[in-house]
Amino acid sequence: MHDIMVIGGGVMGCTTALRLAQGGLKVLLIEREGLCMQASGVNAGTLSVGIKRASLIQYAIRGSNLWRTTPEWAGFDAGFHQIGGLTLAFNDEEAEMLTERMDARKANGAPIEMVGLNRAKEIEPGISNKAVLAAYCPIDGYANSNEIGSGFRGALKRAGVEIKEFTRVDGVEREDQGYAARTPAGIFRGKRVVIAGGVWLEELLKRDFGINIPITCRTNMVSVTERLPPVMRNVLGIATSLLTLKQSTNGTVLIGGGWQGKGDTKRGGYEIVPENLLSNLRLACYVIPELRKARIARTWLGIEGNTQDVMPIVGDIPGSPGAFVIGAVRGGFTIGPCMGMLLAQYILGKEPELPLFDPTRVIVPDDTIERVAS
Ligand SMILES: Cc1cc2nc3c(=O)[nH]c(=O)nc-3n(C[C@H](O)[C@H](O)[C@H](O)COP(=O)(O)OP(=O)(O)OC[C@H]3O[C@@H](n4cnc5c(N)ncnc54)[C@H](O)[C@@H]3O)c2cc1C
Repeated sequence: MHDIMVIGGGVMGCTTALRLAQGGLKVLLIEREGLCMQASGVNAGTLSVGIKRASLIQYAIRGSNLWRTTPEWAGFDAGFHQIGGLTLAFNDEEAEMLTERMDARKANGAPIEMVGLNRAKEIEPGISNKAVLAAYCPIDGYANSNEIGSGFRGALKRAGVEIKEFTRVDGVEREDQGYAARTPAGIFRGKRVVIAGGVWLEELLKRDFGINIPITCRTNMVSVTERLPPVMRNVLGIATSLLTLKQSTNGTVLIGGGWQGKGDTKRGGYEIVPENLLSNLRLACYVIPELRKARIARTWLGIEGNTQDVMPIVGDIPGSPGAFVIGAVRGGFTIGPCMGMLLAQYILGKEPELPLFDPTRVIVPDDTIERVAS
């Protein structure tokens, strides 16, 4: 019997499992596909502290710092680059909104400087002259999300975690000694269990723990251009959109977030929505006019989940002693390693460095589920 089972091998599950093993527990990680093949491996890799919710700024600062230091705590290089981030407003209304949001983020410790067009153009010469105000966050950057699955696999093995990939958990049941996870490869047992199922948390929590936490599915589209000469230096964002763009060291520009694709975990049918994709690409060209000359090499989709209050759920699963949940973190690539560390601290009996996020607040009775439009 393992001390603890972690179900779901995205960034939340991998970092929790790794920290628990480093804390001396015998850990089993079970993942339906390969490690970090879902949201955690197909995301845009942006590590933007400057665009996180004010109340999550401290989590994002720690998360970003943990990506920078993976060689020290996980023994692999996640391709961290700190290049700075610039979020732009294009009219007075957007400028007001940007100022208000950034004030709240600054009050929570984000090192943000508000700059006018001239200074913004010194920081990022390629931006459109139509910007009227910008917020500059020097600690923003990116990491290589598509490489972290293999990085975590090595790290987990070195830490002694037993990994079952391509093993779907069909049910988790409570037993005298802890929990049993039913899979096509047999039943696995752990004294405790962590559910880290990403956008599938609603389904897993309802099926196995009888609690109802509505999770809204967001179908994000990410596009990558062909290799280009340098057209931008920073991670760029827009005050009114969740779209971000940045140029990698190999010259390709990644454009992710913004208007959404289609599909959700209930119906499946994930699809690119061409008019939304075009709107994202037009917006990117509006921000960096030089991008009009670029050709898109590839566009892909990935799905992530949000709770009704768009805040994380990290902590005890109510009514199930020894069972924990972690997920639904907006900007979860940036913040994930911090959340995994905090949950592991809690499970190991230490005081977490920052507060966890009690899932009880977003539980709704079965008959009152209100779906928030994605
Ligand atoms: C396209 C896209 C772009 C994004 N861009 C950014 C960005 O630039 N910056 C940023 O900070 N954040 C970004 N995000 C958000 C971020 O990627 C996610 O918040 C984060 O990766 C979620 O991690 P997770 O471990 O909770 O979920 P996941 O990575 O989805 O992992 C959950 C895992 O649980 C497994 N699982 C589910 N059910 C079972 C079962 N029954 N048995 C076994 N395993 C199961 C799944 O297979 C999956 O691997 C983006 C998200 C997407 C989709």
